[in-house]
Amino acid sequence: MNPPLVCPECNRNDAMQKVTAVVSGGTSTGNYSGSSSSITHAGDTTAVGVGYSTLHGSTSSDLAKMLAKPIEPNKNKYGCGNSLLMMVGMLLILILGYAIFASIDEGFGIVAGSLLSIGFGVYFLIQEHKYKKEVYPVAIKAYKTALIKWDRSYYCHRDDIVFDTVSGETSRPSGLLSYYYPDS
Ligand SMILES: [Zn+2]
Repeated sequence: MNPPLVCPECNRNDAMQKVTAVVSGGTSTGNYSGSSSSITHAGDTTAVGVGYSTLHGSTSSDLAKMLAKPIEPNKNKYGCGNSLLMMVGMLLILILGYAIFASIDEGFGIVAGSLLSIGFGVYFLIQEHKYKKEVYPVAIKAYKTALIKWDRSYYCHRDDIVFDTVSGETSRPSGLLSYYYPDS
């Protein structure tokens, strides 16, 4: 039989809530901003509806933000603005290269500007390729692990800690980055 699910700090379950529930509660109707302290039952979890979060001097939405879902890594190095960034970069370097070298000779300015611009484009694409081959696979793997951990974690309103019922690890809401990504 599994041991009862309790907070590792206070060994009680009356003030704990799934992290996912804190996040959805804090970002929708604001269940935790009131002043009552009714105890609610959500599934198999007993949770204190309100009150505890204000004890720690933060509003529920601040808490929800701190406990928010881990952010998925970008597929491209610079996200959805990737191609735009490359084009703007190439254009700026073309203009800049031309401006510098056209003082020597206008034709040379065009050639030099173009070459520098193409050079930048190639460099950008190489960096992008490296990111996709080396960085992204590691990042997405770590993210998926973090997401599973996030999904099963609980928050204790009394102790202001997040804990993992599987590994037994605990973390302050402010230190969640190393809780979710212990290897990085
Ligand atoms: Zn506790």
